[in-house]
Amino acid sequence: MTVKRYTREGATVTFDGERCRHAAECVRGLPAVFDTSRRPWIQPEGATIDELDAVIARCPSGALQLLRD
Ligand code: SF4
Repeated sequence: MTVKRYTREGATVTFDGERCRHAAECVRGLPAVFDTSRRPWIQPEGATIDELDAVIARCPSGALQLLRD
């Protein structure tokens, strides 16, 4: 699987599905952004960039990364 990119004003969230361990830290931490029942399942405009940063830092696998513009 390739790395997917989810862009919003000021930043891009990247997601590598092969690295994801399904620990759900992201879904628990920011359910308005990470919701596996929606498509796309990552909607980065649902939080501030700092909130994204804090939750993405807790991703245990490194599957999620935040790239600030
Ligand atoms: S926190 Fe990281 S490893 Fe856990 S479900 Fe989210 S992307 Fe996957």
